[in-house]
Amino acid sequence: MCGIVGCVGQRRVAPILVEGLRRLEYRGYDSAGLAVIRPEGLSVFREVGRVADLARGLPDELEGSVGMAHTRWATHGGVSRKNAHPHVDATGRIAVVHNGIVENAPEIRSRLERDGIRFRSETDTEVIPHLIRTFYAGDPQQAVRAALQRLQGTYGIAVLFADHPDLLIAARNGSPLVIGLGEGETLLASDSQALVQYTRRVVFLSDGEVAVLSREGVDTTLLDGVRVDPAIQQLDEEWDVPDRGDWAHFMEKEIHEQPESIRRCLRGRVLAREGTAKLGGPDMTPRDLLGVGRVELLACGTSFHAATVGAMAIERLARVPASARIASEFRYRNPIVNRDTIFFAVSQSGETADTLGAVREVQTKGGEVLGIVNVVGSSLARACGRGIYVHSGPELAVASTKAFTSQVTALLLFTLLLARTRTLSGHEGRAVAEALLRIPDQVAAYLEDPGPVEAVADLVQHARYALFMGRGFSHAVALEGALKLKEVAYVPCEAYPAGEMKHGPIAMMEEGTPVVVVVPDDSVREKTLSNVQEVRARGARVVVVHSEGDPEAAAMGDLSIAVPRTLEILSPLLTVLPLQLLAYRTGVRLGRDIDRPRNLAKSVTVE
Ligand code: GLU
Repeated sequence: MCGIVGCVGQRRVAPILVEGLRRLEYRGYDSAGLAVIRPEGLSVFREVGRVADLARGLPDELEGSVGMAHTRWATHGGVSRKNAHPHVDATGRIAVVHNGIVENAPEIRSRLERDGIRFRSETDTEVIPHLIRTFYAGDPQQAVRAALQRLQGTYGIAVLFADHPDLLIAARNGSPLVIGLGEGETLLASDSQALVQYTRRVVFLSDGEVAVLSREGVDTTLLDGVRVDPAIQQLDEEWDVPDRGDWAHFMEKEIHEQPESIRRCLRGRVLAREGTAKLGGPDMTPRDLLGVGRVELLACGTSFHAATVGAMAIERLARVPASARIASEFRYRNPIVNRDTIFFAVSQSGETADTLGAVREVQTKGGEVLGIVNVVGSSLARACGRGIYVHSGPELAVASTKAFTSQVTALLLFTLLLARTRTLSGHEGRAVAEALLRIPDQVAAYLEDPGPVEAVADLVQHARYALFMGRGFSHAVALEGALKLKEVAYVPCEAYPAGEMKHGPIAMMEEGTPVVVVVPDDSVREKTLSNVQEVRARGARVVVVHSEGDPEAAAMGDLSIAVPRTLEILSPLLTVLPLQLLAYRTGVRLGRDIDRPRNLAKSVTVE
């Protein structure tokens, strides 16, 4: 699930590995480790806690130009030094780091234990080096292939052999790995963020491939030994290592990048005069679009909230039935896949295991899935083949902000395109296109003067319970606001459709309970304002997020925050901003680890 870095080079490898792990820290992890090949054999170092703790424990000037490192996000076995990776075989001459889960580890482990092998950790991973050893007769690649043929589950692995001090072996099935081709050195990482400072020439490993990295480059085969030609790609500048600049946290920086990231997502895609959108990725003609009978959006977490906005926009504007589905539920309900349904898989990282699983299920049933993804070359982007890149650039804070608004923007572009083939006249399409093009400046204007966010943070930071509510599009925003506050500040809260609130959560209202209401000037404004009265009457302290120039809504809150006006279907792009800032500021006040909240990982590559 977490990070892998490796390098076969000529200079001292330890600093490259530590720096690489540091670049992957944003993904969340609980322990770290590293192995290098030295003349006397493999040297392994492991530590619970931060990469900095691991680095502190390394000998000064640790020699060795070939090595690998890992950040672990424990799935099998507690967080302890003995469970941290790398894991080695009984002779200590084969070392493995692993992302993912070996599902048949218990069976393999009992067989190996019967053969007298003593395990030193509780992890599923440890079976891998022992298994490789049983097949090893001098050819490392062949031994790795033979072992992997016995493994079930997901993995991205890297393997070092003390007997072959110039090689690093990598293999993947379900967990991403990318190889970087440098000058006289070859690198490996689970995320290109760890490579871009050394090289932009990369090869994305595919499932079922085993790669041997040497100083000269890479040699790739399938599990059955058939050779494959690596496809070398060049990474865009957009993916350069981001710098926090003067911002205190990546989350804060990414919130403020939204005018630019939304503009990037819109660039070249809005045809203002024709009142429609142009999307190269999906490669669908108006005729194809006319054949779409239903749209299903598959996603998890924040992406699910973006998908919820997208589904509502598609129904509202294009009058095509659409729904957002939680991928982990959808994949196991034996979904119905019809010929005229198109599916979108929405994921920032493009590595979300649950979403990938749902995509495979749809594809098995003959369905067509397009990706809405940020990370170029990711597993989802490749599994779908077609789709829309959201172009938010690297998002390093675990809690997603700019990727959310870009996903919503991408879905709105598709909505406009689809609606123009059916419900919308040119004139109506133009109004939507123009409103979309105004969004980046409106986002910038709001962020310039965000209103009393600090006072709202003061209200919620010590709350035993807080409620977020809204109707329609604003319900999706309320869900996202509550999720952010949980993720970053750990404040107990939930989101409800405003009209549903009186069917349960109203019981939670007592004197001073904070209730954040998202109520822009839209078709359900009046209804939501009635619900505000209901909670006020029960002592709630109300925070209203409303449209600029709506004094009536503003007056109904103890605190109120105004956002610029736009069309109802675009309103989430603006109303979500104060809620992102609220989560951020509350987290800061409570001293939380903003960019790496406890227990969370940036891309959830396990089920
Ligand atoms: N399943 C392995 C473990 O718990 C690997 C976890 C990871 O991907 O970091 O050790």
